[in-house]
Amino acid sequence: MQSKALSDLIERFIKLPTAQRKTLYQQMVSKGVNIARLPIPVTRDSFDRIALSFAQERQWFLWGLDPSSSAYNLPTALRLRGALDVTALQGSFDALVMRHESLRTRFVEEGDQRLQVVEADGRIVMEQLALPATGNDTTDRLDAYIAEQIARPFDLQNGPLLRVQLLRLGADDHVLLLVQHHIVSDAWSMQVMVRELIAGYSQKSAGQPTTLPDLPIQYADYALWQRHWMEAGGREEQLAYWREQLGDEQPVLQLPASRPRPPVRSDRGALHKIELDAELGQALKALAKQQGVTLFMLMLASFQALLHRCSGQDDIRVGVPIANRNRAETEGLIGFFVNTQVLRAQLHGELSFSDLLLQVKQRALGAQAHQDLPFEQLVDALQPERNMSHSPLFQVVYNHISAAPVSAAAASGQIQGLAVEAIEWHNQTAQFDLALNTYESEQSLSASFIYAADLFDAQDACLLASHWLNLLRAIARNPQQRIGELTLLDPDQQQTILAQWNPAPRRFEVERCLHQLIEQQAALRPQAIALTFENQHLSYEALNRRANRLAHHLISQGVGPDHLVGLACERSFDMLVAILAILKAGGAYVPLDPQYPEDRLAYMIEDSGIALLLGQPAVLQHLPLPEGLATVALDASFAEQPEHNPAVALSPDNLAYVIYTSGSTGRPKGTLLPHRNVLRLFDATQDWFGFDHNDVWSLFHSYAFDFSVWEIFGALLHGGRLLIVPQDTTRAADDFYALLCDAGVSVLNQTPSAFRQLMHVACAEQNLQRDNPLRHVVFGGEALDVGSLAPWFQRFGDQTPRLVNMYGITETTVHVTYRPLSCADLQQASVSPIGEPIPDLSWYLLDAQLNPVPHNCIGELYVGRAGLARGYLNRADLTATRFIPNPFDNDGSRLYRTGDLARCTADGVIEYIGRIDHQVKIRGFRIELGEIEARLQALDGIRDAVVLAQPGPSGAQLVAYVVADDAQLEVAELKARLKASLPDYMVPAHLL
Ligand code: AMP
Ligand code: MG
Repeated sequence: MQSKALSDLIERFIKLPTAQRKTLYQQMVSKGVNIARLPIPVTRDSFDRIALSFAQERQWFLWGLDPSSSAYNLPTALRLRGALDVTALQGSFDALVMRHESLRTRFVEEGDQRLQVVEADGRIVMEQLALPATGNDTTDRLDAYIAEQIARPFDLQNGPLLRVQLLRLGADDHVLLLVQHHIVSDAWSMQVMVRELIAGYSQKSAGQPTTLPDLPIQYADYALWQRHWMEAGGREEQLAYWREQLGDEQPVLQLPASRPRPPVRSDRGALHKIELDAELGQALKALAKQQGVTLFMLMLASFQALLHRCSGQDDIRVGVPIANRNRAETEGLIGFFVNTQVLRAQLHGELSFSDLLLQVKQRALGAQAHQDLPFEQLVDALQPERNMSHSPLFQVVYNHISAAPVSAAAASGQIQGLAVEAIEWHNQTAQFDLALNTYESEQSLSASFIYAADLFDAQDACLLASHWLNLLRAIARNPQQRIGELTLLDPDQQQTILAQWNPAPRRFEVERCLHQLIEQQAALRPQAIALTFENQHLSYEALNRRANRLAHHLISQGVGPDHLVGLACERSFDMLVAILAILKAGGAYVPLDPQYPEDRLAYMIEDSGIALLLGQPAVLQHLPLPEGLATVALDASFAEQPEHNPAVALSPDNLAYVIYTSGSTGRPKGTLLPHRNVLRLFDATQDWFGFDHNDVWSLFHSYAFDFSVWEIFGALLHGGRLLIVPQDTTRAADDFYALLCDAGVSVLNQTPSAFRQLMHVACAEQNLQRDNPLRHVVFGGEALDVGSLAPWFQRFGDQTPRLVNMYGITETTVHVTYRPLSCADLQQASVSPIGEPIPDLSWYLLDAQLNPVPHNCIGELYVGRAGLARGYLNRADLTATRFIPNPFDNDGSRLYRTGDLARCTADGVIEYIGRIDHQVKIRGFRIELGEIEARLQALDGIRDAVVLAQPGPSGAQLVAYVVADDAQLEVAELKARLKASLPDYMVPAHLL
């Protein structure tokens, strides 16, 4: 089509009613005419009231929210040295204002319509001032003055939206300060303005007429065209591309920051500048060339890799401004054209950087081809969850700026007698969490990070920049490297971090065994109550005597050091007597909770290789007892046995218990724990808790979980009282609460999910009990959502009792970290703080290659030193993969690889993030999804199964997706079959 025919067509097109325009558009599209590429026509009388462009609509909206904000003020400051012709300068301005309608535009709202109004005449008078003297030196005064001017808000309704000031510093020394509102301008426009201003000044001061080619259209023409084009189908076409690119989920990037994200973000910002050394700059430019990408793409990829490494997130979306001046008619205009695109990268540690680069290149090219869709329209279409705490669709921005045109124009020396120099200025506001700008010139490459001061402090920004530089160096050395392997830390930063994680170890000498300390308590205070169960009490003396008789019997049965002895028992005094007796005989107890299904118990009996099983007769009756397994019924009195403490030669390194946890390959595995581990746990935490014989502890948890180890020995090692909570009571929060109050429990241990129910009961209580003896509430077993404690803190404050979060693992002896909680934590409710390690442990946050991760970045938690288990029973291979040689010490020590993700702040405080694998916690129960899947797959008629933990009505719940041979398979029957081999908490709530 001829261009005349084309522009006639477009003229007709735009004048059509919407419905017909759409039809015509479709016809043109089907004929292969791309309307987006047709020239933009002028279709209005000059001073109409015209609809806003979409970008302007958003600015109008933001201004309405806070008219006093200066976040969108765009400044340019030029230092003019030499004899200045002020009249020529004002004349040049006058010409500029008449030439560009944007400089004469203001905004109004009529009904539900927002309109831009172009004034026929809108002279802007240049304000002339002497720089106010305040006693500082000129630069400081100038900076302060400029900052003050930039901070002055604009009135979008009345205009003008450009302020011009000429500051006189000396006879031949001036600063020209231009501040515009973004709604009528952008960075490109500022360059146009400076270029035309200088050209006009040169001509005017030389007495010549201004000669600039006519503008083909004005901004308002563009705004109109944009609407027509979009309505006619352009929107749908481009949206389809972006929908596919971005998908349905719009994740929020959570960058490592020192401060919690406030519920409403502010614009406070700050700047951190860096210069890349020349060698690195050249290397990166060469690398881009060699990889067939632009420097922009390379730098964007490096930034996305950095964000991935620091956040631990795999789906990284970065906002990238695009000038949107890709058509001849708009090139020379002043106005708000700049658009923002969301460039997404999908990363993982195994991806090589060069593969990431390919991905980034493809997406950048695709974005370029779909750049007409205004960002505001994308937001409307994708409808991300709106939230005042972060910006929609992306939270960080990258902008690559090649060459600085203002100084280029100045350097060209067009202006006789006047040296023009741009004063670098940064608006101290941050529209996003983080923005990276890179500046490319022939000789250099520099960058600035603009960060939200709400989130980051100067040190955070400085660290981030240093990680990025290290990452760039690593890329320049080897672009094939995997992203997970790129080093972020300097060697000395690494040393500092390692030293922080491993202060000189505190050692707690352990000379005796668990039962020996309990014997000591029995000797010290024989009549003190050791156990309470269903209103019955048992004294230390009686407990010790009964345990001694049983122990002597066990010894006669051949029990000795490191022998594993099964214990199948309902909650009762017998349970504690038996545990103590097994220890006294030198053995280690293997809890076989009768609540477990037979199949699982049979497996544990076989796997542990126990030769002897203790149990209540009623429980033993129901157990699958293999031939040759000897049993001891606990109802016997063993009256024939002596009552003194048996003397078995035992060391604290002998085993005390074996606890089974879910196994990813389908079968649970037993963890081997010595006496020493438990004893040092209490010594090492004593300064925090000060447990003593006055404490009353509840035994809430099953003795098959290690939280019970803390409860049982916390009470008995200190001569305190252990309140055995009846099974039914553990499931009824109101009964439990009544029991706690009755018994005067002072140390309560809970998973956060159990505590939430208790909290509701406690908070609903009318008459608050005065002087409640509860001193400590210890959380453990699963991630704590601090925000959920708000009602508790409101009612009871944060002093008595103290609420403490402790993170730990069976393999590291119950607890690893300690974190007292307070009302102040509610401010930061989104994180799960787990605090600092117990002083005789060491810990590391490592990446997949066992490199320490920087402060605030996410890594896998490894635990070392005194809490580590001996290993897994009969599972040398698994022991070797989970208990690895400490890569930072060659003293033969080991680290336990937890599979937990965490981050550590610069102050050494650890925050829990989540799991790296398919282990989940349901109400504190540790579950390997793989175990359930294996059980399901083993059932007749099931071909395949996938199990997930999903949010349910009361916390997480398990959902299984199964592929069955027979479509008629009954869900209830499947559940029943699963229950034969899995404990209740592992049976999925839903089978689909
Ligand atoms: P278990 O061996 O049953 O104690 O389970 C250990 C696992 O529970 C850890 O690896 C964590 O995933 C989780 N866990 C334990 N305590 C906490 C805690 N305070 N915060 C978050 N997760 C926890
Ligand atoms: Mg635990």
